[in-house]
Amino acid sequence: MLEQLVGDSQALDRAIAGEELSYKDGLDLMNYDNLHLLGAVADDARKKLVGDTVTFAASYYMNYTNVCAASCQMCAFYRKEGADDAYTLTPQEIEQRVSIAKQIGATEVHIVGGFHPKLPLEYYEDMMRIIKKNHPQLNIKALTAAEIFYLSKLTKNSTKEILSRLKDAGLDSMPGGGAELFHPEIRGKIVRGKCSGKEWLDVIEEAHTMGIQSNVTMLYGHIEKPEHVVDHLIKIRELQKKTNGFITLIPLKFSLDNTELEQDHLVNNECSSVYDLRIIALSRLMLANTLNNISVYWVAYGKKLAQVALSNGGSDLVGTAFSEEIYRAAGKPTTSSVEELATMVKEIGRIPSQRDTHFGILKQF
Ligand code: SF4
Repeated sequence: MLEQLVGDSQALDRAIAGEELSYKDGLDLMNYDNLHLLGAVADDARKKLVGDTVTFAASYYMNYTNVCAASCQMCAFYRKEGADDAYTLTPQEIEQRVSIAKQIGATEVHIVGGFHPKLPLEYYEDMMRIIKKNHPQLNIKALTAAEIFYLSKLTKNSTKEILSRLKDAGLDSMPGGGAELFHPEIRGKIVRGKCSGKEWLDVIEEAHTMGIQSNVTMLYGHIEKPEHVVDHLIKIRELQKKTNGFITLIPLKFSLDNTELEQDHLVNNECSSVYDLRIIALSRLMLANTLNNISVYWVAYGKKLAQVALSNGGSDLVGTAFSEEIYRAAGKPTTSSVEELATMVKEIGRIPSQRDTHFGILKQF
């Protein structure tokens, strides 16, 4: 059926045949004008690779501090030390919140924050130890590769030493944040004071090599060009071939409100839903056979668009978030129950399954 429809794009032909797509293929698909067909091919690839199950995790998202030494142009979350609404939680406060989340069903904690210029490495070790001691079954998914890189500069320890100490303290896996877009041409315009794309990839490779698996994100919908998106996906693919350490790709739609990019009128509107769907489809096709979990961040899309994204190559929902201060800072709704997500999935005729951090199935609905 799909084979009869195509013929006007060699890149799409290759995607249908399940071949690895080149950089040029990626660019061709970023510019391909039949979005319905692109989405249908991506959906077909999703079905062949992972079937009809849509997964989601009961995850507790927590930001331990909003104090940050960096000042990224795409961020609405950071505060400088001493600001009225700056905060930093103690390890004990973190554990109390985690404890409540666990009581309502969380199986993992997703902990990220700003680059705090004064917190010592022991703070992070204490945080993990106290969580692990009280909740040994919870997966501690904490600190992005960008935070690890910052901590290494701050404490003058190697990134390997930091990762090793945190692993000993209870770190199980890592979130995918801070990846943004790796290409230096765009990265310098959206982040200020954060590691380079290469440094991010080096740290995450080190983590993977030590047995710490991670997610990876891609921030799109701001001032990027198609080549930056394709470059990002190819770099993920290349590292995944080497380490097999990425758990899922989470394309993150840029959230405009209260960011420097908005204030400087460099971005005046969030990207269209059509672009969102193109990104999901392209992610599926560029990573096919290498990283087969493509997550849809419903918090940024809203539930209806998230359902469409799941029909354009997505296979997992992220954002079963009992809290998410970063998106809340940019005015987005952030909470939903596992049951609500299951209903969303049933409404599009797919099979909802609650998963753990590493995509082991815990419960089918
Ligand atoms: S994106 Fe992260 S590193 Fe950049 S300013 Fe925001 S909190 Fe800080």
